[in-house]
Formats: sequence, C-alpha cells, structure tokens
Amino acid sequence: MAIPVIDARNLRKTYRVGGQEIRALDGIDVRVEAGELIAVTGASGSGKSTLMQVLGCLDHPDGGEYFLDGEEVAKLSGDRLASIRNRKIGFVFQGFHLLPRLTARENVELPLVYAGVANPRPAAEAALERVGLSDRMNNESNQLSGGQRQRVAVARALVGSPALILADEPTGNLDSRTGAEILALFHALNAEGRTIVIVTHDPEVAKFGRRRIHVSDGKVIPEDFVAKRESTRFAASLNPELAGSP
Ligand code: ADP
Ligand code: MG
Repeated sequence: MAIPVIDARNLRKTYRVGGQEIRALDGIDVRVEAGELIAVTGASGSGKSTLMQVLGCLDHPDGGEYFLDGEEVAKLSGDRLASIRNRKIGFVFQGFHLLPRLTARENVELPLVYAGVANPRPAAEAALERVGLSDRMNNESNQLSGGQRQRVAVARALVGSPALILADEPTGNLDSRTGAEILALFHALNAEGRTIVIVTHDPEVAKFGRRRIHVSDGKVIPEDFVAKRESTRFAASLNPELAGSP
C-alpha cells in the first residue's frame, strides 16, 4: 500500500500570550493520501494557519506525531526541518511571496538552486509553460498582474515535483474571476496526479476541494457533522421559522 503524504496524529500547539494559553491546535489528526485535493476550512482564528505551518514544516508542533511522505518530522527543527521542507513541499501563499527584482523564471528556478540543481532553467521554463506563462518568463515579478504572480508562485511550487503542494488562502488577494482561474489550475494539476492541500476561510474556495477537513477551535470537526450543520443553515435560509438551530 502506498504511504500517505500526510499522516499526523494528535497535533498540539499552544501559544502563550501574557498569562493566557491559546490552544491553536488541540489534538488534530490529519491523513492525506497521494493524489488527493483537500480543502482545509474553518473560520478566522480556528487554527488553519497554525496547522498549515506545522504541516508545511515551517514550525514544529508541541506534541503529537507527524509523518510527511513517510519521514517522521514532528520533533525536527532548524536545518533538518528546512531541508525536508525544501524537498517535499511546494508553497503557495496569499501574498505570492515572489522576489520582486527577479524575473518570473528566476523566481521559479530558486527552489532548484537551493536544492543544488546545476541547470535549473529547463525545468523552470517547463513549469511556467504549464501555468500558461511562457510569454512572461523574462518579466520581473513586479511587472506582472496579481493573477500572473500567483501563477508564477504555482510554477515555483510544482517545479521540484514535491510530494505535496500546500496553499494558504491562495485566492485571497485576487478578484473572483482570477481566483477561479487559479483554482481551476489546481484542479488540473491534481488531475495530473499532484497532491494538493488548500487552506481557506472562503466556503466558495472550499467547494473546489475533493475532500474537506473542517477546523474549529483547534480541532477537526467530522465532515458529516459539517454537512448537517450547513444543510440546517440552508433549510433555515429558505424557511426562517427553522432558524435558531445550530
Ligand atoms: P486561522 O488561520 O484559522 O485564522 P490561526 O492559526 O492564525 O487561525 O490562529 C489560531 C489561534 O491562535 C488564534 O486564536 C490566534 O489568535 C492564535 N495565534 C496564532 N498565531 C499566534 C502567535 N504567533 N502568537 C499567539 N497567538 C497566536
Ligand atoms: Mg490564517
């Protein structure tokens, strides 16, 4: 049987601010198989970004187990965590996170340069072609529109063929039409076999996932419960007398 891309159990992360403890992750289990397209949903403050940081090996949990593509990473930090992150994960962020003075191609080459690839150019060009930006490769990223910048970021995320592409609110800075194009791109990449996790507070974006993981107060809420709550809310919107049920 294939190993899961993400196998995380009982993840915990507590922030201490003043005398207060905030359980941002309060015992979360997540399992993602190769080839899945998953939307991690939840209200603002529910713990999505903290979960993304831990699953993305940008930070380590206070407790729990995490196997990323078969490697135990929960207790790693510093250089060892960074090295696994660079090999296994491609990131897409709300704010694009491109280097403004580099061209689109140079931005996409960066992960390969860090990985020590001698000639990163052909792979970077292929990735930019894949996202429909063959004609913008030599533009500096600050000469591109928001939608084009996010395409460059997607090309950078997929160029090293990582086990996982992890996107945090990838449409958050885009108008709805451009956002829908980026989501369609994620769908097409998933159809080609890429494993993708999209973190979002936006229910419209969440619909693009083939499976959802709903987070509330640092815990995962089972999907059937979420569906039931949503259908109750939908029924209530049609019949105000039903309003008031959770
Ligand atoms: P989301 O991305 O769903 O909005 P976050 O993971 O950013 O949620 O935050 C979860 C909870 O943890 C919130 O109550 C937030 O205020 C708190 N939190 C997040 N990051 C920090 C931090 N660096 N220090 C203290 N509290 C934090
Ligand atoms: Mg967030």
